[in-house]
Amino acid sequence: MTLHIEDLVVRYGSDGTAPAAVDGVDLTVADGEVVALLGPSGCGKSTLLRAVAGLEPPAGGRIRWDDTDLARVPAHRRGFGLMFQDGVLFPHRDVGGNIGYGLERNGVRRIAIRERVDELLDLVGLPGFAGRAVGTLSGGQAQRVALARALAPRPRLLLLDEPLAALDRELRERLIGDLREVLRSTGTTALYVTHDQGEAFALADRVGLMDAGRIRQLGAPAQVWSHP
Ligand code: ADP
Ligand code: ADP
Repeated sequence: MTLHIEDLVVRYGSDGTAPAAVDGVDLTVADGEVVALLGPSGCGKSTLLRAVAGLEPPAGGRIRWDDTDLARVPAHRRGFGLMFQDGVLFPHRDVGGNIGYGLERNGVRRIAIRERVDELLDLVGLPGFAGRAVGTLSGGQAQRVALARALAPRPRLLLLDEPLAALDRELRERLIGDLREVLRSTGTTALYVTHDQGEAFALADRVGLMDAGRIRQLGAPAQVWSHP
């Protein structure tokens, strides 16, 4: 399954006079590929991701998932997994309840949810954490749980918006390695937004450099690196 973004334009405000936050983006993300969008604050990375998620309506262009035009598919029907920087955990649910939330909503049976939660906790390096209260987790543990929650329904596409930005450097570097391992081992297709070059280059098969609502350069990390 392939994501096709074609000449996408996204504008905030209803009067149409605001400058476009996303201003004509073309991007294809292939099955199993991880593409990072890198660029300064305000260049439109989050807006692009939110449009793919179905949270901002495009003012122009198209987003397709294989042959399906997503314009007619509401956010909750897209089957995409979201992980945002401040997409905090539900505080009143324990770790297992957070990870299993989407599965419950999909009507998955309790025993299958438990199995899946345990499998994901192993995957993110938190075995045995299912019954822990969210408030007892460290920042890094909470991010791991958020990742497990995003992966739980086996999303066809994982949308990550600065998922590690709130963490200190040491923890971030450790989690970059873990995240890469998880994405590779699960073959997950992902679009990864960051303003951190090291993060983008460590994780992505291809990196898109954004500026003022557009992708100015797109290529393998080494390619983009050698032609800044
Ligand atoms: P980035 O993720 O690269 O920091 P954003 O997509 O958040 O960039 O923002 C792109 C542009 O759109 C910026 O000029 C920002 O101020 C503007 N913007 C973002 N969100 C909104 C919003 N909800 N309403 C109006 N303008 C917004
Ligand atoms: P990020 O760049 O990581 O999205 P921001 O601090 O730019 O974070 O935005 C935080 C929130 O404020 C987002 O929901 C974004 O859509 C909104 N926002 C950003 N810029 C504007 C703006 N100019 N007007 C209104 N809302 C905005």
